[in-house]
Formats: sequence, C-alpha cells, structure tokens
Amino acid sequence: MPQTRHRICRHRRTSAYIGLTALALGVTATASDGMGTRPRTTAGPVAAAANETALAPCRISGAMGVQMSEGLPTPPGYSRSTGEVRALNLMIDFPDAKGEGTAKDRLAEFFPQTSDWFRTSSYGRLVYLPEAPVTDWLRMPMPFAAYGIERGSPYEPGYRQLVEHIVKAADPEVDFSKYDLVNILVTPNAGPSALDTVLSVTFSGNGEAPVADGVPLANTSFVYSRQDDGSGSYRETGYRVLPHENGHVFGLPDLYTADGGGTVGHWDIMSEDWGANNDLLGWHKWKLGWLDGEQIGCASRPGTSDHVLSPLAVKGGTKLAFVPVSGSAGFAVEVRTLAGNDEAVCKPGVLIYKVDSEVDTGRGPVTISDSAAESGGCTRRPNVHAELSDAPFGPGETFTDEESGISISVVGELRNGNYQVRITRP
Ligand SMILES: [Zn+2]
Repeated sequence: MPQTRHRICRHRRTSAYIGLTALALGVTATASDGMGTRPRTTAGPVAAAANETALAPCRISGAMGVQMSEGLPTPPGYSRSTGEVRALNLMIDFPDAKGEGTAKDRLAEFFPQTSDWFRTSSYGRLVYLPEAPVTDWLRMPMPFAAYGIERGSPYEPGYRQLVEHIVKAADPEVDFSKYDLVNILVTPNAGPSALDTVLSVTFSGNGEAPVADGVPLANTSFVYSRQDDGSGSYRETGYRVLPHENGHVFGLPDLYTADGGGTVGHWDIMSEDWGANNDLLGWHKWKLGWLDGEQIGCASRPGTSDHVLSPLAVKGGTKLAFVPVSGSAGFAVEVRTLAGNDEAVCKPGVLIYKVDSEVDTGRGPVTISDSAAESGGCTRRPNVHAELSDAPFGPGETFTDEESGISISVVGELRNGNYQVRITRP
C-alpha cells in the first residue's frame, strides 16, 4: 500500500506504567546512583540565554501523568542530546533466525547516515559517535519466538530477558559504562516484515533496566526488519527508523497517532520515519538544546510583535517564534524549506503548529495548522502524508485561532530567504 505506515513503538519508562511522573522520577534518581564517574547530562537546553526571563512563559512545562511530554525541560533519565554522544551498536541473531549477511553489513544500513542526520539536524551540536566493539552477530541463547516479542510488547518480561541475554553475551568484549545509549540491530529475518508490523521500539529513561558494568541500560533502541517502501530507495532512507527511535532516547514523544501521520505529517521524524528524509520541528530542536534561547522569539505579551525567522535548515538566526496560550500549550512558528534534512518539502513557507505538553506521546501532542485544508497536498511521494505537505503559510496569508484570538500573519519573504511574521494577541 502506498499509504503512510502506521507505527506503533513503545518507548516508555517501565515505572510510568503506574502513571505517576513523580514515581518515575524517583526511580530514575535511584538508578543514577549506580552510574560511573563519566558525567552524564540529560537532554535539554544547555546555556542560560540573555533573554531567559523573557522566554519563561514560552517554556511550557510537562504535566503529571504524561509519560513522554513536549514540555520543557526534558526530565532526567534520558540520554544527553548535545556534545559527544557515544552509541553502542550490537547486532544480534537467534538460533532460529541466524544473521543473513555479515553483522557489519547490518550496521552499514544505519551508519554513517544516522550520525550525518544528527549532525545536520543539530547544526553540529550533537556529535553522534557510533561504535561496534563486537563485529560479529551476537547469538542469543533462545529462539526468537521464545522471547514473546510482538508489536507493542511491554518491557517485562520478554525484553528484560532479551537485554539480560545481550549483556551476558557482550559483556566480555564491551564496557557498557562508556556509552550514552544502546542500539540493538536485530537480524532482519527475525520476526515479521516491517511492511506488516513495525516491531522497532525504544525503552528510554528506564531506570529499572538490567545493569551492566555498573550502569543500567536505560536508553536502548531495538530495530527490526527493514523499513523498505519498495520504491528502490531503501539504501538512502531505510536508516531513518534509527534517528526516530533515538529521538525517544533523547526524550521526544511520538507525534503520529492511532490514525497515522495526520496531525504532523512529514514535518518531523517523530511523526513519519518512512520514505524521503525529513527534519525535526523547531520546538524539538529547542527541547534538545540545538537552538539557543537567543534563537527563540517569545510572544507572551498582548499586542503585536514582528519576528524575522530564518529557515530551520540554515544554521544561525532566529528559528522559532512561540505564542503561549497557557502554562502547558502554545503555537509555534518556523520556516521550512527544501534544504538540510528536509527532502520532501513541496511548498516552502511558514509552518504553524500547536504544542500541548499535557497530551501524551502517540496521542497528538503537536498539531499542524494546514493553510490549505482538504487540498490533497502537493506531494505524491510514497510514505509522505500528502494532505499536510502544503501546510505552510505563504506571504499574505494569516492563521487565526478563534479560541485565543491569536493571529499570525506572514508579512513577506525577504531577499535573503528569511520570513517576516507578525503575531497579534489580545
Ligand atoms: Zn516512536
């Protein structure tokens, strides 16, 4: 089917099953006691900006009971998202699904593209260092089916057992304390085809994970099968499941919902990770510490304010204007163009979306405003949500939110490619 694949991937804290953020944080804090001497910082903006006070109303915060929130800052327990991030890659197979091809070939499906993707998206702030100290397949002691892993499987008991077996097999050759995150690249012949069922999953901020070399394997992504859309582009685009899964390791929620990619379309890899390459929303880049406070305009006061935004794919300049409507939600404004990681932009312009930190992962925490609703969109690329592909607003167009009375107008595109945006709020 040419439609966008629906993904179901889990990436939650085990303790979050209880549904209380406070408890989850408590577990994380306990787990961090066991960490080694290597300093570990969590995801989130690093430097305090000069306009920090002005930005405060735009730092919408996470809510109790939300497992993975769009709120700022990202809670502790996730992997750092700036500086050098060391990723341990282990290729595993099973007695009933022996690795086809070499383990190095499996690794080469994801690298160097994944490192390149993060360097481009983060403007060089995340230096992703993939390592594979074990160059052969690590054979698991039980057949694949015996772990009981299926779509939507929780961490317990199958994944816990699998991780324990991986640690046992790899420990003689691997110092787990050297790494910030772990990628388990499963032989593609284990389990169903990703065309039928996407098994790929991340367990993040998981302080109750098995401990190896004194550290819990708290942020671990599993990649199964191959996300091959059949268009012949697998070699170029098949790796994209890994930056999606690693997005969870850095604390980002899923933006697709049970209905698919209809709320965010192809505007963020946490929404769609099949098909042509795409970037992250500016909001996510701020959350990850890839944008400075100086690059954010916060329209929190009544009246009119003008903002000159430079395209998200270009390094430097103001990237994001945010209009808070409450302590937990607001409208984000950014410029998207056909550049950088964005390969499928068919209508460049000003993208406007609502961010709600009280809406949980997979339930639509972000909603794009479509400037051309029910137009059918401007792309026919496979696995790119068509309707929202022409969502950006162009010069002369205005977005209005009836409920809050906020209006956001695109005054014009400047000669240097920047856009001037006027925000009015009562
Ligand atoms: Zn996901």
